[in-house]
Amino acid sequence: PKAAFRTDISTLLEQVGTGKESLSFMKRRIRRLAAQWGTAAHRLDGKLRGRWRDQKRILVHVGFLTEESGDVFSPKVLKGGPLGEMVQWADILSALHVLGHNLKISVSVKELQGFLGVPPGRGSCPLTGPLPFDLIYTDYHGLQQMKQHMGLSLKKYKCHIRVIDTFGTEPAYNHEEYATLHGYRTNWGYWNLNSRQFMTMFPHTPDNSFMGFVSEELNETEKLNIQRNKVDDMAVVYGKEASMWKGKEKFLQILHRYMEIHGTVYYETQRPPEVPAFVKNHGLLPQQELQQLLRKAKLFIGFGFPYEGPAPLEAIANGCIFLQPKFNPPHSSLNHEFFRGKPTSREVSSQHPYAEQYIGRPHVMTVDYNNSQEFDSAIREIMRTKVEPYLPYEYTCEGMLERVHAYIQHQVGVGPDSMSGSPSGPFIALPNSTGLGWSSSVSAPPSWPPLSALQLFISKEAQSCVEACHHEGLVCEPTFFRFINTKEVQCEGVETEMNHIFPAFSVVRKECGLQKEALLFSCAGLSAKYRRLCPCRDFRKGQVALCKDCL
Ligand code: UDP
Repeated sequence: PKAAFRTDISTLLEQVGTGKESLSFMKRRIRRLAAQWGTAAHRLDGKLRGRWRDQKRILVHVGFLTEESGDVFSPKVLKGGPLGEMVQWADILSALHVLGHNLKISVSVKELQGFLGVPPGRGSCPLTGPLPFDLIYTDYHGLQQMKQHMGLSLKKYKCHIRVIDTFGTEPAYNHEEYATLHGYRTNWGYWNLNSRQFMTMFPHTPDNSFMGFVSEELNETEKLNIQRNKVDDMAVVYGKEASMWKGKEKFLQILHRYMEIHGTVYYETQRPPEVPAFVKNHGLLPQQELQQLLRKAKLFIGFGFPYEGPAPLEAIANGCIFLQPKFNPPHSSLNHEFFRGKPTSREVSSQHPYAEQYIGRPHVMTVDYNNSQEFDSAIREIMRTKVEPYLPYEYTCEGMLERVHAYIQHQVGVGPDSMSGSPSGPFIALPNSTGLGWSSSVSAPPSWPPLSALQLFISKEAQSCVEACHHEGLVCEPTFFRFINTKEVQCEGVETEMNHIFPAFSVVRKECGLQKEALLFSCAGLSAKYRRLCPCRDFRKGQVALCKDCL
């Protein structure tokens, strides 16, 4: 059947259910943003000009909310626990509903079994018959639960699964045999999925798909009003848990010389000792009241934690300047407790790399907090600078709808098996721009993103394809690896092995390496001994997930 946009959210609200603080938080958010989703649906509908969209049967199983995974979050919702996840799930549900898909939502293992058709009381009995869903959105907890309850048939249905994975999972960590042999094992497991099946909160490595979330968009009148009512010496501190303020007195003192400081730190009866008396603490606020506070404030200031949350985007969308610490050296799973054991070696260059790299000045200032002079002058600059509220298109409701629509309609067959097999068909010559004898040719079977978007580059030594493509004003597109990993490569020697750096050129041995295992194609991989062969593509302004011809 054809999917039709929905603007009425009442059935979605019914489906979300009741009885948990986390569900109430998500419902409040869905309700508050309903009008924005409606407008966005109209706009996207116009843009797609009535194009056919398949209606999919979709199961959303929110693993971290189930009792079986301990439901650690619900009790923390009122105390400022990680609301970011809840924000994202609420937005995913809204997007899928508004796009007109046939949605089922599960927040317990019992519901999951019911939807998958596992007979009651036979927990480990594998699913018999065909999977009643085209797509299943879940998280790492949910994946584990599905493995327990679907048994072997999980393998068969793997390609229908999408894993919402905040920080991302790089290919080297995802492949069981490779991870085990080369020290990429983590507690999150290695599921041998196609890395595109992991969907992140921000566009980290393009090996994963960027799912994102939304922030409220303002109309012109609201923007003008906000700019008129800005209080130049008012700052709000990023950090809703007292622990995030620990050891920051020095900075707060400097800031307090210039500005009135507000906080939204959760507390029970007394002011937490970490929050100095000169700070006006509002306690944890409902999202809507936080927005009001951000509309007045000039500065939203981070002290290094939490990493990569939604709040800075909300602040910037409400006309604040976001000031944040630069991390030198960058934080990663190699050197920081928080990232330790996470299935990525991504280097986090500041508290919020997306704000730093995709937004930047004048909305975002990333400075060295150890240099108090630099910190001091940043604050003074912020007080003088006038900025307009700003929200990148990919974080608007329309942007998210457009992206999720494209994934659902085009990202089919991203299952592990569809990737392997050597390409066949007519060959297209690639420009020999590499200077290294990579005069390769690629086959042109149907592909999404379309193969016409492919641009080939060779990285420097110790440079990943993420960086190499970025350097050219492009992004790495892992889907294209299979087209450039071909034997037609003209090289003195060619070796083929399982190596997440491949395809690449060995600087030492003057030899080309081809990839043997499709699951290990990796934009993120890098090595000092290799120059990588990188498939890059263009992207839409404000929508990095989609190439110009991707819609
Ligand atoms: N938030 C809120 N009240 C507050 C502070 C934050 O509702 O007093 C919300 C905020 O609007 C944001 C969400 O909490 O959407 C997540 O915030 P954060 O960036 O801190 O990310 P987290 O660490 O929770 O993932």
